[in-house]
Amino acid sequence: MNATHAVFNQSPPLEGVNLFEANRPLREALAHLAPTLDTAGLLELGAGAGSAEWQQHARLANSHPPVLHTHDRQGRRVDQVEFHPSYHALMGEALRHGLHGTPWARGPGAHIERAAGFMLFTEAEPSVLCPVSMSYAVAPALAGNPALRAAFGPGLAATAYDARFVPAAQKTALNHALTMGMGMTEKQGGSDVRANTTRAEPDGVDAWGERVRLTGHKWFFSAPMCDAFLVLAQEAAGLSCFFVPRFGPDGSVNAIAIQRLKHKLGNHANASSEVEFDGSFGWRVGEAGRGVPQILAMGALTRLDCALGTAGLMRQALSLAVHHTAARSAFGKPLVEQPLMQAVLADLALESEAATALALRLAAAVDRSEHGIEAEHERVLRRLLTPVAKFWICKRGSAFAQEAMECLGGNGYVEAGGEGVMARIYREMPLNSIWEGAGNIMALDLLRALRGADVAAALERESAAARGRHAAFDRRLALALQAVDGGVPEAEARRLVRDVALLLQAALLAQWAPEPVFAAFCDARLAQASDTWGTGLAGHDAAALVARAAPHPI
Ligand SMILES: Cc1cc2nc3c(=O)[nH]c(=O)nc-3n(C[C@H](O)[C@H](O)[C@H](O)COP(=O)(O)OP(=O)(O)OC[C@H]3O[C@@H](n4cnc5c(N)ncnc54)[C@H](O)[C@@H]3O)c2cc1C
Repeated sequence: MNATHAVFNQSPPLEGVNLFEANRPLREALAHLAPTLDTAGLLELGAGAGSAEWQQHARLANSHPPVLHTHDRQGRRVDQVEFHPSYHALMGEALRHGLHGTPWARGPGAHIERAAGFMLFTEAEPSVLCPVSMSYAVAPALAGNPALRAAFGPGLAATAYDARFVPAAQKTALNHALTMGMGMTEKQGGSDVRANTTRAEPDGVDAWGERVRLTGHKWFFSAPMCDAFLVLAQEAAGLSCFFVPRFGPDGSVNAIAIQRLKHKLGNHANASSEVEFDGSFGWRVGEAGRGVPQILAMGALTRLDCALGTAGLMRQALSLAVHHTAARSAFGKPLVEQPLMQAVLADLALESEAATALALRLAAAVDRSEHGIEAEHERVLRRLLTPVAKFWICKRGSAFAQEAMECLGGNGYVEAGGEGVMARIYREMPLNSIWEGAGNIMALDLLRALRGADVAAALERESAAARGRHAAFDRRLALALQAVDGGVPEAEARRLVRDVALLLQAALLAQWAPEPVFAAFCDARLAQASDTWGTGLAGHDAAALVARAAPHPI
């Protein structure tokens, strides 16, 4: 067929960009929070994450979702999930770059570096990071059983990916990596895990401690090909936490029946399953009847990753929007130069930078509290920021993705065999807000955090750099401190989370971002209700804000 027309005024793919080098807000935040950090590894990861090769892997891993094999040809149960080779390629890269358990075996700064890497990797593909995140987060909870920690800890920090369905000991013998997941949510209750009905019966004691047999189910059980899981189950003393491996120490397969895989809105490359336990063996982790705080030591860190992951997705969506609008013209000039588009992009840029700052600050609080640096203040901040960052960043994610998608017009809405990355981002966005504790649960957790520590003092200390620099900031801070001191009714907890999040974001920008970024953020987020993108920046240099955020010179 003859060509009927030439294709022009379409943006080329955004590839071949070093995502670390191109991300000025991230680099500046790191320079402030971890000034001595060697960024060579992040530069390497940034090159991979921005490459055409990784983007191709992401497209294939999402277009060919995992397939469950419950039985073999002869009818025996096998309970295995088959993934596309591109999934394995991405898993290999994530583990090679140490985005799972490696920080626990390293010194100060490792959690911050890993957090920046996690954000960068999210821009390539977020769904494979589900097992990677759980394998990072499990370390403090696993410490509740020293024998298991000794057996599994080194594998969680090893960087060679091993996709085989074989006992963990065969992997660790080769110094290959192990991965872990978690099973809390049941049909009748996810937020209220006390409603769990899975039962644990005593089954003796061995080298791994008190062994039990589990009977029951989990309604959400992501990444079921992990080597082991932390699972909540009821016993005489109440709800307890158990280590449940896919294989026992004698090499026999554990009775974990994968019933089916979830058919999800997004997150397609990751397998999320429903499972049943029928006499499955498990080993106690932590104290009997204290399962919720035990597994929440893990949940707190996966919440950090929800914030980091959403900040990464925001950055990716923003980069695509700026890239596209710089390449596409309408009504006589590039879209990026149209004043209204500039206002929208500048507003998204502020949101993305503030999300990056807040998520990284939480990672820094984890790092510093783990290493006893300013330990008391950082411990309070870690407790405070976990629900605040998880709630606010993740809650903003979907609205952000919708507006970024609109910048691409109709092309933004089209997947085109997986090439339309923006649509994938949009489908992924709500997930971080729901799993690991949905919005209301985070708001309630903030109220709990207020009861346990001097949050007002921590908030005041973190706000020092911004105080007296913007009237709206000072006003909002005074109100928030009053609420923190006096307490707020449950029904108003969301307002307090939002205010604390915005204040801390502004305070962080005051510490290291250029003055115009801080001033624009305070005007757009604290001086007015932030309900419509592209409003609140009158009098600010929107073009400069967009140029700062651009993934390449525009
Ligand atoms: C793709 C995916 C993968 C997942 N993977 C896993 C996994 O690997 N392991 C695992 O254990 N779970 C997993 N989950 C489950 C997830 O953590 C839960 O869905 C989530 O915690 C919410 O629980 P629920 O679905 O039972 O909702 P519910 O607990 O019924 O909550 C419904 C709504 O009510 C709100 N709510 C609850 N209590 C209150 C209250 N007191 N006041 C006000 N509002 C309230 C919640 O915020 C939520 O908005 C996954 C979920 C998804 C979507």
